[in-house]
Amino acid sequence: MSEIRFTRRSLLKVAGLTATGVAAPSLWIRPGFGQPVNWQGGDPFALGVASGTPSDDGFVLWTRLAPDPLPRDPDKPGGMDGEPVMIGYEIATDDGMRDVIRRGTTASEPELAHSVHLEIAGLMPGRPYWYRFHSGTATSRVGRARTLPASADALAQLRFGFVSCSNYEHGYFSAYRHLTEENPDAVVFLGDYIYEGSNPKIAVRLHDGGEAATLTGYRNRYAQYRLDPDLQGLHAAAPALVTWDDHEVENDYASTWSPTFEDAGRFLDRRTAAYQAFYEHMPLRAASRPTGAAMHLYDRFRFGNLAEFSMLDGRQYRSREACYGPPKKGGAHLESDAVCPERLEQQRTMLGQQQEAWLFDGLSHSAARWNIMAQDVLMAQFKQRAPDEVIGYWTDDWDGYPAARSRLLQHIADSKVRNPVVLSGDIHSFWANDLKRDFDNPASETIATEFVGTSISSHGPPHDVFVKCLPDNPHVNFFESRLRGYSFVELSAKTMTTHFRVVSDASKPDAAISTLKTFVVEDGRAGAQEA
Ligand code: FE
Ligand code: CA
Repeated sequence: MSEIRFTRRSLLKVAGLTATGVAAPSLWIRPGFGQPVNWQGGDPFALGVASGTPSDDGFVLWTRLAPDPLPRDPDKPGGMDGEPVMIGYEIATDDGMRDVIRRGTTASEPELAHSVHLEIAGLMPGRPYWYRFHSGTATSRVGRARTLPASADALAQLRFGFVSCSNYEHGYFSAYRHLTEENPDAVVFLGDYIYEGSNPKIAVRLHDGGEAATLTGYRNRYAQYRLDPDLQGLHAAAPALVTWDDHEVENDYASTWSPTFEDAGRFLDRRTAAYQAFYEHMPLRAASRPTGAAMHLYDRFRFGNLAEFSMLDGRQYRSREACYGPPKKGGAHLESDAVCPERLEQQRTMLGQQQEAWLFDGLSHSAARWNIMAQDVLMAQFKQRAPDEVIGYWTDDWDGYPAARSRLLQHIADSKVRNPVVLSGDIHSFWANDLKRDFDNPASETIATEFVGTSISSHGPPHDVFVKCLPDNPHVNFFESRLRGYSFVELSAKTMTTHFRVVSDASKPDAAISTLKTFVVEDGRAGAQEA
């Protein structure tokens, strides 16, 4: 196989440009390596644009050339074939793109499905920028990016949304549209951004191609999601901080263990494909580009001295789910301590040793007023009663890794981390929880606050079953699983105000928005108070 990898420099040479040279738009119309210039086959920017992974002098700008985003035969790759295509970009200080302060060229990467992950540096801190791409006769929509404030800056306010669990088949993405309208400084994606499976029986709209399990399958799945106007609009409007949960690969997987007890090597091939497709479609730095089956996703973002976000990876490094294996189905189940003492083993890990050490070190040294841990699954203990009244714990969330949870909360308490807040997804319901030193003793210290946002569209767990468990879990201050939506946070030095927003009906594309509840966390006092 002849592999042609154009470096940025060689492309620029071909195009007659220099790395610092200003490219006039007319140059971008020159044919790029035999690729069609007039894009008669379709809009190469049909999947939109995105920005994310901000620093105090830049960000990553993303697009993917896909003039034929979804093939008629869903087993065939969508997008486009062929060699790298030259892409021009512009960055401006205004939304009308009149004051362009940066122009340049880059190239699509065929081995990454013709995506672009453009790392921009050298800009001013703490301000918005607007950007767009050009290729031949085509121009992308304008997107808005934002640099982080300088890390010592006193930032008066930060406004951000957090979202999870957008199952395309379960509903429309009105929640994404309404979040866009709030004009957030950033959006935190907590996972289950796509769903690999398919269930036509309950689908409001169908996934193309059934279950995704190959690189082509995952790529087409991301393309289908990014064609959604509400999701595409959100990415164009706000910088993304991203992590994943299980459905980006397979329901309830843990590290190399599949819920179907598939051979580890075969499952790792699937995970490799899924991670690559995730990278290809997210505004992530080259440092996150997968090598083999591994992908470095966890990262830290400082918004001046106001907030530090630790984006955590809760899937890649975790221990095998407790009491895994046939004849039980899947990786996740309720387990009692009598039947499954393995769940309580001290060496069990949710984050893996390296990430755990990185997180602990970051928390110890943080100078931020608010320390936000954004991650995939419910952290608070949640006792559930089986029909025989025996108490069980769900093995897929932090209840499957209680020793790891205790280590984290102990570390937060010992190093006096200022205002620790955990943001979680996965469970398709709203929660406001006190994270306790000892969950079995309601009088014990509340070490941190947890907010769980409901799903964008994915169906929630049975409300009556969960409500019956609440008396056994007095640290759960609020629970609601019947509604879909997102969470919106206004952060100041004094308070964190979290609004639980709900859509009127996720099965309708034009759902209205309203506020279900608002909670306030005060500086210096863990735990949410209803506003
Ligand atoms: Fe989910
Ligand atoms: Ca999940």
